[in-house]
Amino acid sequence: MSVWDQVVGQEEVVATLRDAVLASRQGEDAARAMTHAWLITGPPGSGRSVAARAFAAALQCTDPDEPGCGRCHGCTTALAGTHADVTLVSTEKVTFLIEEIRPLVSQAQRAPSQGRWRVMLMEDADRMVERTSNVLLKAVEEPPPRTVWLLCAPSPEDVLTTIRSRCRAVHLRVPDPRAVADLLVRRDGLDADVALASARAAQSHVGLARRLARDPEARQRRRRLLAVPAGIRGVGDAVLAAAELIDTAAADARAATEERDAAEKAELLRNLGAEAGTRLPPALRGQVKQLEEDQKRRATRAQRDVLDRAMVDLLSLYRDVLVVQLGADVELVNTDLADEVRRLAAGSTPEQTVRRMDAVGVARERLGANVAPLLAVEAMMVALRPQG
Ligand SMILES: [Zn+2]
Repeated sequence: MSVWDQVVGQEEVVATLRDAVLASRQGEDAARAMTHAWLITGPPGSGRSVAARAFAAALQCTDPDEPGCGRCHGCTTALAGTHADVTLVSTEKVTFLIEEIRPLVSQAQRAPSQGRWRVMLMEDADRMVERTSNVLLKAVEEPPPRTVWLLCAPSPEDVLTTIRSRCRAVHLRVPDPRAVADLLVRRDGLDADVALASARAAQSHVGLARRLARDPEARQRRRRLLAVPAGIRGVGDAVLAAAELIDTAAADARAATEERDAAEKAELLRNLGAEAGTRLPPALRGQVKQLEEDQKRRATRAQRDVLDRAMVDLLSLYRDVLVVQLGADVELVNTDLADEVRRLAAGSTPEQTVRRMDAVGVARERLGANVAPLLAVEAMMVALRPQG
């Protein structure tokens, strides 16, 4: 399987990146002709980092005829994130620290050690305050001939204009759910019907579709969430439903981070030469405290991500309701909940559905703005109750 096969439903972008790789191999001056900074944008789940990794792999590929062969050492290590000349940068924090970016700038100055290129692949390039962006800007402005920066962000507007103007931009679109399902069947050997329903439910988010298709419990959780609106009769139900959603999100986030947190802490203690459970000398306590704070931030972000996903799922439900109410000739996102959707559609007007979608949208915004999650979700649930 070529590295490009992972980049689902993005024929135009793949063609652009492929051409760039081919051109970079033509003659001595080719390195100079190569664009040294790329900005890869696209909505969540469109596969920004997948596309960036495929590009990095194709740049490092050692196959003379088919760059991005997917079989050679260059391809496989670049995809796995272990290639010596591919630096992957991402963050679980809200923004990158300036101290995290500085070392990258000096690293980018060095020639590749074994590959054709030194590739600096930065996910979350939108998570930089201006001061940090300016540090990066220096590196992106004047890269050495064999260095390529790949910056990923949701949209071009999410990065500073000065950086954007130095980059060649490629934009990914939301892939067709059929293309996503096809990949799940081909690559992961999943059942075709489950794959298609999951791809639709995940609104073509590849990672999420895969999780849904592989994990019956995840599908069950999603179905339970989408059954919530139908069960809300009054304000009391709404408040209860909000509390339950917050608890579930917290539990999901904990399950996702707990194991990793413990492993990280054990490793830090080992590196500090301390046994777990013994008292640390004061000089070392600071480091442990720093780690614990990072982990807490990560847990908060994980919980916010789970909640945001729930909001997106609820929006998809009301979007389907509206589709039915307006008699629009488009496919439902929630094909497995068609009965539920029709019931909700029959029991309300399109205006009410739009107001409910607005309420979910407002809750999303408030969560993004760090409003206490319970308050935001309660207000939303109350707005979802049946209106006379
Ligand atoms: Zn290869």
